Amino acid sequence: MSRPILRVAPSPNGRLHLGHAFSALTNARIAERLGGRLMLRIEDIDLGRTRPEFVRAIFHDLAWLGLTFDGPVRRQSEHFPAYGQARDVLAARKLLYPCFCSRGRMAAAIAERETAGERVARDPDGAPLYPGTCRALSGDEILARIQAGEPHTWRLDSAAALAEVTVPLVIRRFAPDGSQDTVRGDPARWGDAVIARRDVPTSYHLAVVWDDAEQGISHVVRGQDLAAATDLHVLLQHLLGLPSPAYHHHGLIRDRGGDKLAKSKGSESLADLRSSGVTPDAVRAMLGFA
Ligand SMILES: [Zn+2]
Repeated sequence: MSRPILRVAPSPNGRLHLGHAFSALTNARIAERLGGRLMLRIEDIDLGRTRPEFVRAIFHDLAWLGLTFDGPVRRQSEHFPAYGQARDVLAARKLLYPCFCSRGRMAAAIAERETAGERVARDPDGAPLYPGTCRALSGDEILARIQAGEPHTWRLDSAAALAEVTVPLVIRRFAPDGSQDTVRGDPARWGDAVIARRDVPTSYHLAVVWDDAEQGISHVVRGQDLAAATDLHVLLQHLLGLPSPAYHHHGLIRDRGGDKLAKSKGSESLADLRSSGVTPDAVRAMLGFA
């Protein structure tokens, strides 16, 4: 068996906080136990929120924690052409379709249906499932609207995609103690998910499965908040003929109020802790890595 490869994959759209530290340290500990390599990936597809100082801070904060990485650092923003090719392959097979719906119009349509007493189905993140409005557009209309430069995302035609699945979609899971099991993936609960955004030729889902394959990631260790997305990830791996890593979704570090830590909520950053005199050893101890 070849040597396991894991990855730490933060997004540079804010300062890292204790939740990121926990995830990175968990990856490092499991990599060490497995005798594996640990790689770093900067997940910077959100060009509107990515800032160079946040990228620099990621390197600084992770080094401060004592983490070192193997191999080249992968930056997703350098691989848009590859993601675009993967998107185009799926679109050519009619597994994706362009969606011209604006967020505002979709939200208004959902609100209207709910006001009318309809129970709108939701995805595992709580977002309403896309009703499929653009799935039935004619080829001529699609071409005209794309040629006119109308902004559009690319959505999974989930029925068409699932029709191509001829073997059970299996998620291989592992626990830090080495035990393993498998569960069936259920991508249908995501409906016609967005696979490529308006502004860049990918989404989190497409970029992450592409990169995991490119970097030879054998073990994905990430937060429980991404566990449900794995259903979609194993489907994309199947459709694109990519290998499927084993997954471990760890618990989330919560703030004193019991909420998940988030950059957007101004959770205390590692930089704040550092400047108030907290040492890397203290952070490790705080997170159970003493
Ligand atoms: Zn649409």
